[in-house]
Amino acid sequence: MPALFIDVRVSSAHAGDLALAKKLEEACPVDIFEATDTGVKIVEENLDECTLCDLCIQAAPPGAVEVVKLYERG
Ligand code: SF4
Repeated sequence: MPALFIDVRVSSAHAGDLALAKKLEEACPVDIFEATDTGVKIVEENLDECTLCDLCIQAAPPGAVEVVKLYERG
């Protein structure tokens, strides 16, 4: 099995949405989202904790959040 890495992206159209930021902060069980004064911040050091639960996708408008699976090459 190749190693799996996760990247979580918030579309630029939604990244500054403070209400969405709060919602995502509450939705994610492993604290990958942080609500800041300027919107959603991705907490990079928690990315490897992502369980692919899709709660963030469900909490956000369509297309706002993307959970991307990246595989180690080789
Ligand atoms: S899929 Fe689940 S664990 Fe991963 S970022 Fe979204 S809410 Fe957090």
